[in-house]
Amino acid sequence: MSKIYDTIIIGGGPAGLSAGLYASRGKMSTLLIERGKFGGQAATTEELENYPGSVEDCTGPSLIERMRKQAEGFGVEFVKDEVLEVELNEKIKKVKCKKGEFQAKTLIIATGAYPRLAGFKNEMELRGKGVSYCATCDADFFTELEVAVIGGGDSAITEALYLTKFADKVTIIHRREGFRAAKYLVEKAQKHPKIDFILDTVVDEAKGDEILEGLVLKNVKTGQLSDFRVDGCFVFTGYLPISELFKDKVKINDRGDIITDEDMKCDIPGVFAAGDIREKSLRQVITAAADGAIAATSAEKYIEEVFEV
Ligand SMILES: Cc1cc2nc3c(=O)[nH]c(=O)nc-3n(C[C@H](O)[C@H](O)[C@H](O)COP(=O)(O)OP(=O)(O)OC[C@H]3O[C@@H](n4cnc5c(N)ncnc54)[C@H](O)[C@@H]3O)c2cc1C
Repeated sequence: MSKIYDTIIIGGGPAGLSAGLYASRGKMSTLLIERGKFGGQAATTEELENYPGSVEDCTGPSLIERMRKQAEGFGVEFVKDEVLEVELNEKIKKVKCKKGEFQAKTLIIATGAYPRLAGFKNEMELRGKGVSYCATCDADFFTELEVAVIGGGDSAITEALYLTKFADKVTIIHRREGFRAAKYLVEKAQKHPKIDFILDTVVDEAKGDEILEGLVLKNVKTGQLSDFRVDGCFVFTGYLPISELFKDKVKINDRGDIITDEDMKCDIPGVFAAGDIREKSLRQVITAAADGAIAATSAEKYIEEVFEV
């Protein structure tokens, strides 16, 4: 079989890239496997202004490109492939991908999260046909049109503000009156001339066959239904961990988050998890990057203790 790496990292988002930087800088032979675009969720946002030092050029894609180049400079090997299966119980961990198979002394799981569906009728059918989960990817299609943003957290409000650069009107539809989002973001949106709010309301249905033609809204207090005409609908109602591969292999909570200790260790020796995949309270680029750094240094210590005695 192939070479045995010191560590294999699954996922090339901020957690994986930071783990790669710390591992390779610590002279560990490091392989990072990413199935899609580098950067994960962070690459899908244009407004990333709360990562320390990210001031003049604070878009997600540019920050990620700098992270990727930095890790590469220290010797991380990158592979574009999808991990389909992992074997974790032996001392050497095995990772099976679509195109190849790899092995390592340690494994760092950094597979992140994917958007949760809002759950309205016709959502799946109109996905990519007016219903979107990524403003950076799709905002341009709605230039001078009217869009709705579903959700009340940081992502929903940040992306609504970003969408005002393209759309003529942005309506934030939120199931409650209060917001989970940071107060300064909500105030910024409330003052914005292009943004309106519809509160205590959920989307019941997306209308249209080939393309989104409008929404049916439901007031959660009165139950009353009403038609709402929009050209686009952006859903930001939270994220779910990408942990299917690791079920029954490492300890996972009811939501699907991997449980680690504060050194990012999972319950299987030599296996670590970092970033949004982990059970934790703040899911941001800074916490993902911090987790990645800790996971890599913990993996290094584990190798010293287990393989270098
Ligand atoms: C719209 C939006 C706006 C945001 N804005 C901000 C912000 O302003 N500030 C901030 O700090 N945070 C923001 N966040 C949150 C931040 O992006 C995440 O917390 C962060 O990206 C988590 O990093 P991660 O590396 O843990 O996971 P992810 O970024 O989700 O990356 C995981 C990677 O793993 C890959 N992967 C998954 N499964 C496999 C597999 N089987 N094989 C190979 N690869 C796999 C995925 O393709 C992905 O690239 C935002 C998120 C979104 C969605």
